[in-house]
Amino acid sequence: MSAPASAIQSVLVENRVFPPSDAVVRAARVSGMAGYDALCAEAERDFEGFWSRLARENVQWTKPFTQTLDESNAPFYRWFADGELNASANCLDKHIGTPTEHKTAIVFEADDGTVTRVTYKELLARVSQFANALKAHGVQKGDRVLIYMPMTIEGVVAMQACARIGATHSVVFGGFSAKAVQERIIDAGAVAVITANYQMRGGKELPLKAIIDEAIAMGGCESIRNVFVYQRTATACAMQAGRDKTFAEALAGQSTECAPVAVGAEHPLFILYTSGSTGKPKGVQHSTGGYLLWAKLTMDWTFDLKPDDVFWCTADIGWITGHSYVAYGPLAAGATQVVFEGVPTFPNAGRFWQMIERHKVSIFYTAPTAIRSLIKAAETDASVHPSRSDLSSLRLLGSVGEPINPEAWMWYYKNVGGERCPIVDTFWQTETGGHVITPLPGATPLVPGSCTLPLPGIMAAIVDEMGNDVAHGAGGILVIKRPWPSMIRTIWGDPERFKKSYFPEELKGYYLAGDGAVRSADRAYFRITGRIDDVLNVSGHRMGTMEIESALVAKTDLVAEAAVVGRPDDVTGEAICAFVVLKRARPTGDEAKQIANELRNWVAKEIGPIAKPKDIRFGDNLPKTRSGKIMRRLLRSIAKGEAITQDTSTLENPAILEQLAQTN
Ligand code: ATP
Ligand code: MG
Repeated sequence: MSAPASAIQSVLVENRVFPPSDAVVRAARVSGMAGYDALCAEAERDFEGFWSRLARENVQWTKPFTQTLDESNAPFYRWFADGELNASANCLDKHIGTPTEHKTAIVFEADDGTVTRVTYKELLARVSQFANALKAHGVQKGDRVLIYMPMTIEGVVAMQACARIGATHSVVFGGFSAKAVQERIIDAGAVAVITANYQMRGGKELPLKAIIDEAIAMGGCESIRNVFVYQRTATACAMQAGRDKTFAEALAGQSTECAPVAVGAEHPLFILYTSGSTGKPKGVQHSTGGYLLWAKLTMDWTFDLKPDDVFWCTADIGWITGHSYVAYGPLAAGATQVVFEGVPTFPNAGRFWQMIERHKVSIFYTAPTAIRSLIKAAETDASVHPSRSDLSSLRLLGSVGEPINPEAWMWYYKNVGGERCPIVDTFWQTETGGHVITPLPGATPLVPGSCTLPLPGIMAAIVDEMGNDVAHGAGGILVIKRPWPSMIRTIWGDPERFKKSYFPEELKGYYLAGDGAVRSADRAYFRITGRIDDVLNVSGHRMGTMEIESALVAKTDLVAEAAVVGRPDDVTGEAICAFVVLKRARPTGDEAKQIANELRNWVAKEIGPIAKPKDIRFGDNLPKTRSGKIMRRLLRSIAKGEAITQDTSTLENPAILEQLAQTN
C-alpha cells in the first residue's frame, strides 16, 4: 500500500527553469550568480565586516556604531548597538536637497478610484506636523502608540511620525475585532491610538473609531490618554471630550518642521502582533537600526529598485509586508510607490491590472491568495482577465505570504508578467523583518514554486529534530544558523516565550522558523513544504500538506483552492483530510461523492496512492486570517470532529467554519 519514494517526489520535481535574460543580468545591481556568490563569500569570510559595511553604506547614522554584533546575551542579539539614528530621517530627510525631494513618494488610489500624490518634501512636512501634534499631546520617546488605520497616506504618516519622535508603533489591521484591539492595547501598554472615523473597502463604509471605543470600553485600557481620529469620510463618529481629537484639531497650529529624535540602534521601532495562523498572537519586537538596514537593502537586492521604478506592494500596513515594503523600505530607497485603499475585487476583479496600467507600475508585489482568487475570477469572467489591461510597464513581479504553487506561479508569469518579468518568490516572516530566502531578479534562475536561495549573509539550512543538517532532497526543519540584523529582538513582555519559540534548546542555538522545507538535489534551492505542524505521517510516510495541496490545485479545470490537514487514524496513524473550493458551485450529495473520487484518483496519479485524501470536504471558501492565510489549526479541529474552542479573533470569515463542519 505504500508508494515508492520516487512517486511521492514526482509532483515536487519542477523541471522548468527560467534564467534571467542577459539584459536583466547586465542591468542588475547584483549581477548574475557571480555577483550573488561574491556577496555570499564576503559574508562567509568576514561576517561582521560584511554587515558593518552594508550598515554604513545604507543607513545614515547620527552617531556611528563601533560594534557590529553583540552575542554576549544570545539569543538576545544586538546589532550596531552603540550607533544612533532616526528611521524617519532615513526615509524622508535624507532625500531633501537631492533630486528625490520633488519626486512623488506616494501615489494614493482610494477605494472609489480618486488619486492623490505626495512628493517626498510634502510627505516630510506632513509627518513632521503630525509628530509635533503627538509631542504636544505628551507622546514621548519609548511610548507605545496603537495604529488602527485604513490604507491611506495618513496611515504611513502615522507610522513615520511615531518613528520620528522615537515612539514605538503597533499597527493593528483595520479588520480586527474590538477584542483583538483591546488585547493588543493591554499587551503593549499603549498611551495613544491613531485611527480613522471610517474606512472605505469595496464601496462600503466600515467603522474604525467605533471599534476602538468598544475595545477601550472592554476595560484594562487605562493607559490610553489620547485617541487621534482621521476623518476619512464625511460621516460623524462619537467623540469623547478630552480624550479624542480629530486630525484637524490635533494638527492646528503645529509647525511642519520637527527635528527627528535620535535613538539607539536597538530602540524598538515597532511591535507587530503576528497574524495568528498557528496560535495566540505574539508581539514581535523589532529594532530600529538593523530593521531599517534590511528594509532598504532588500529594496535594492530583491527588487533591484531603479530610480524610475513605480513600486506597488499590495499588502496592508497592518502586516509586516506593509511595514517593510510600504511604510519603510520604498521610502528609505527613494522609490515612487502606489498605496491602495481598496480590495482587489472592487469594482471588479480586474482592479489590480487596471491600476498597474493606470499608474505604470513596474514592480508588483502581492500574495498567492490574491493571485489564486484573481485566476478564478479571470477564468469565469474574461472582462477582468489581465490581458484586458496594458501591463507592459511591468518588469518584475513578487510573491509573499504563502508558498505559491507552481500552477499559480505559471499563470502569474504568463498572464501578468508576459513571460518577460522575473518572479521573486520571497520567503520571510514577521519575525525576520524582511526577505530572507528569495531569488535575486538579475541573478537567480527561477524555478516555479521555489523561493530558491538565502540572501547573502543569511545562513539558512535544513536540519532534523536534533539540529543536524539533512541531505539535499530530504525534507526537514528550516533554521537560520547565525543572527542577522533585522531579526526579531524579543516577544514584547515575554522573553521566555521568545527563547522557547524561536531558539529551542535541542536546535543548537539556531533560529527556528517554524516551517518545513526541502532543498533540491540539483541546485540546492529551498522549497517551503508548510508549517512544521503541517507535516503528515501516513503509514510511516512523511508528507508536507503543501505537496498534496499543490497536487489538488494542479487540477486546474476543477479546483480553485485546497487546504490539507491530518487527523488521527487507527490504521494509518494519520489520515489526510482535504478541504476544497471548486471553480464551480459547491457540490453536495452524489455530485460531491463523484468529484471527491475524481480528486482522489487525481492525487494518486500526481503523487501516489499513499497521498490520497481519505476525507474531502467542499466549501464556498476556506477559513482565512485577515491577511489571507488559511488557518489550518481550525481545519484540524473540524477534521477531527471537535468543537472549535481556539482563538478565532483573527479569522476573516467565521461563518465558513459551520459550513465546513457540516459537509461530508
Ligand atoms: P503566526 O506566526 O501568528 O502563525 P504567520 O506565520 O502566518 O502567523 P507571518 O509572519 O505574516 O505570520 O507569515 C510568515 C509565514 O508565512 C512563514 O513562516 C511561512 O509559513 C509563510 N510564508 C511567507 N512567505 C512565504 C513564501 N514565499 N513561501 C512559502 N511560505 C511563505
Ligand atoms: Mg509565523
